[in-house]
Formats: sequence, C-alpha cells, structure tokens
Amino acid sequence: MKTEIAATGTPNEKASAVRWAVALLQSGEIAALPTETVYGLAADALSATAVVKIFETKERPRFDPLIVHLPELAWVERVAVIEENARPLIERLIAKFWPGPLTIVLPRREIVPSIVTAGLETIALRMSAHPIFSEVVRAFGGPLAAPSANRFGRISPTAAAHVMEELSGRIPLIVDGGPTEHGIESTVVAPRHGVIEVLRSGPITREELGKFGEMRSRGSGAPESPGQLPSHYRPQTPLVIADDITQIAVPHGQRFGALLWSDQPFSESFMESRRLSTTGNLREAAANLFRQLRELDHSGLDCIVAEALPEEGLGVAIMDRLRRAAHW
Ligand code: AMP
Ligand code: MG
Repeated sequence: MKTEIAATGTPNEKASAVRWAVALLQSGEIAALPTETVYGLAADALSATAVVKIFETKERPRFDPLIVHLPELAWVERVAVIEENARPLIERLIAKFWPGPLTIVLPRREIVPSIVTAGLETIALRMSAHPIFSEVVRAFGGPLAAPSANRFGRISPTAAAHVMEELSGRIPLIVDGGPTEHGIESTVVAPRHGVIEVLRSGPITREELGKFGEMRSRGSGAPESPGQLPSHYRPQTPLVIADDITQIAVPHGQRFGALLWSDQPFSESFMESRRLSTTGNLREAAANLFRQLRELDHSGLDCIVAEALPEEGLGVAIMDRLRRAAHW
C-alpha cells in the first residue's frame, strides 16, 4: 500500500484532506490525523472490523484499550454511562478541559465493540481541540478510536514525517497538520465518587485537576489501565536517566548522546546533544521530547543519557515517558 501525505497549508488543501480522511474512515479504513497531543491513527470506533486494522497496523496487543474521540458532547452518554454521584465532577471536568488533552474513563455501553476497550467494562473518552481532527470527527459524525500513530511500544509521532517512519506502506493516508502542540499523550483520569484518579500523566497536570476534586494516586497491584506498561515510548538506542549529568563519564570509544534539561555543563565526549528547552520551560520540553528522542535515536549512538527533570507540573508526565523509554 502506498502511504499518501495530505497537506493542509491552504484552506483548499485542508478541505480536501478532511474529505479524503472522512471518505476513508466511512469506508472502514484507517487514517493518521494530527491531534493537539500526538498524531493518532483513527478508525470508526463502532466498527470492530475497522478497529482491528488499528491493532494490526500498530502491532498493538489486544489487551491494550484504545481512546475514543467524540464529535460532540451528546455522544458521551451514547457510548458511556455517567453515574449520578459522579455527574457533577465529570461535568465540571468536561466543561473545563474539553475540547482538550484530557481523557476520561467511564463505564461503557454495549454499542462499543469490546475490541475497542480490550474487553474492559470501561471506555476512555476524549474530545480533541485540534482544528483538523475535530473537523474530521464532526464530518464523520460518530466516534473515532485513535491511539498514537506509531508501532506498538515505540516513540509517539509528533509530526507527519514521524508517522511516515513508523507506518509507511501500512496505511493509506497521513494528514499533515504540522508539529503537534503538546507533544505528549493526553492525561487519562478515572473520576469516581468525587475522587480523581490519574491513570496516565499528561498535559493536564495534577495541580490543575486538584482544583476539581480529591486526587488519588494509582495504588499498586494489577494495572487497571492495561496500556500503562513499564516499557513504552522506547527508542532503539539504550537510554538511561541521570539525576546529575555532570557526573556522567562517557566510556572510552563509546558514542553517547545527551538529552538535556538544565544548563549544567556536561562532558564534551558526548557525540550529540539536544536541549528540551532553552528557557527552562516544561511546555516547550514536552513539545520537543519525542522529536528529540527520535533524532538522538537516529544518530547511531551506543547510549542516550537523559537528564532528570523536576517532577512538578508537566515534569511529572515527561519523567513518566522517560522512565518508560529507559532500557539498557
Ligand atoms: P494511546 O491511545 O496509545 O495513547 O493509549 C491509550 C491508553 O489509554 C491505553 O494504553 C490505556 O492506558 C488508556 N486507556 C484506554 N482505555 C482505557 C480504559 N477503559 N481504562 C483505563 N485506561 C484506558
Ligand atoms: Mg501510544
């Protein structure tokens, strides 16, 4: 299959890219689309045969549930149940954060094929603020399942070229909406009985969510969010996290790269380096994270050393991704 990239630079290009994507989705095909977090691989969420293509294309295990993107608020209670005691909290979260990078996990309804939720009794819902994604899902007129448009376990794509690297030849279309705004995947929460449990950290921080209810951390035990595997977002190059990069001595003859946060001096024997932000800005760091990881991964290095970030605000989500990327 030849993978086409549709530009969206002019209003005409954008309109024709949207029509093309919608036509594919309506015929049960998949298409890669930009969202405000990372690029997604979309399919009709109410069609099991369309959704199967997402799992096959990504080589994603069937136990890893997909996020479902809604065209409008009226769809929430068509695909999910809002329990009355949770309604005030859920409505406040939706009013504040939708459309935007917050995914809300609710009990599901039967209309959703069980492959979408990996057999779980809950469904993860989101409404994208991206101008292209939201136009496609509204024109499609129903919910779209859309996980990140990368092969399973790999670094999420934040540009159309990254999707091409990951899925070229496997999908018919990538709609190019330029680099994504947030650069990391949505925050996933389960609101219950006035308590907000964060299942995956992301662009909406604990500090922001804490204004809406009591926060609970995930306890240990079986993961309720099966996709939250300890190893994910993984570059091919080994990656280690250093609390103090000034202490890292590169072994003789080894090609090491550095993914930097602070402006501490570091060893000149690093062959390559990238700086997540030149101004200590965590939003900029999140937006750069996956692109810079990908660039370092392509530099023929023996090891990437990532400098630890402060674990506050967005730093929590960035460190979460780095820990899952780490392997030796
Ligand atoms: P991705 O779409 O690749 O960003 O991954 C979606 C992630 O959302 C999954 O890996 C899960 O961690 C989470 N998720 C999706 N559905 C559910 C659900 N029903 N319950 C809990 N977490 C979910
Ligand atoms: Mg993913």
